[in-house]
Amino acid sequence: MKAVRFHKHGGLDVLSYEDVADPEPASGEALIKVRACALNHLDLWQRRGIDGALLPHCPGSDIAGEVVRGEAPGVAEGLRVMLQPGISCGRCGACLGGQDNLCRSYGLVGHHSEGGYAEFVTVPVENLIPIPDRIGFVDAAAFPLTFLTAWHMLVTRAQLRPGETVLVLAAGSGVGQAAIQVARAQGAKVIATAGSAEKLARARELGAHIGIDHYQDDIAKEVRVFTDRRGVDVVVEHVGQSTWEQSIKSLRRGGRLVTCGATTGPGGAVDIRHLFTRQISLIGSYMGSKGELLRAADLFFDGEFGPVIDRTYSLEAAAEAQHRLEDQAQFGKIVLEL
Ligand SMILES: [Zn+2]
Repeated sequence: MKAVRFHKHGGLDVLSYEDVADPEPASGEALIKVRACALNHLDLWQRRGIDGALLPHCPGSDIAGEVVRGEAPGVAEGLRVMLQPGISCGRCGACLGGQDNLCRSYGLVGHHSEGGYAEFVTVPVENLIPIPDRIGFVDAAAFPLTFLTAWHMLVTRAQLRPGETVLVLAAGSGVGQAAIQVARAQGAKVIATAGSAEKLARARELGAHIGIDHYQDDIAKEVRVFTDRRGVDVVVEHVGQSTWEQSIKSLRRGGRLVTCGATTGPGGAVDIRHLFTRQISLIGSYMGSKGELLRAADLFFDGEFGPVIDRTYSLEAAAEAQHRLEDQAQFGKIVLEL
């Protein structure tokens, strides 16, 4: 089959479109013909070499396609599916308690296994989520990772309630566009930031009530203006170092900051005095459980959620697609279409 892999870490030029042996599904796995694979920042981190994954590696964690074969009830050839990105042991207390993303052996498709920048991929059959005919493969591939992340952050970790105000950073990112939609569905009011007037207009179309230009404006100051100096109930952080201080300043007393990423760097200071006197909660969030993804998927299939597609590329043009993500030129998800 054709696949895009890297044999060493580095820039875009290490991505190689090449012939690779077809994968063979192990017992309990299905073989999937990949029809679309969405990009994530994780793909960039992997290529640059932040972890100890084995080389060569084929990235791609957000996958939709068709079953070629898989031995499980209801899993027939041609079944249209999107894939649960999380892989866990299925036997420990965390897994059986519905918190598989806390499993000690938790991993991601395309990170701890070969991913979807390829014509075929193998995954455990429990990772298959059948999709209705009205849902296209590109939309389906753009859904799992970011909506699962946003759902777990807002619904489960931050316990967002109707009527609360949420600050969503970087509305044009995958997590940003998903967080706006999840926050709206929970009945919250959304303040979104983005890097251009055009992206801010798109954020409003998605349901953000107020937009802040994160290059031109002081985020915390603008938040104070929009909230009558109160601050927001919840901040959705994933940008990291460059916005961390502003994010904390934007919280009301008793507010919650929930973070799932550090795109601009891992550093971030906290004034411990502010932490306790203002009674702030700093909450970490990583992926989400299989059950949460199924609940979010119901809203996707019902038309409540719609992943925003920025642009699609062929598999061969994967380097070009990653370049667009690296440049932060996108609004929404960048997807490889096979
Ligand atoms: Zn487990």
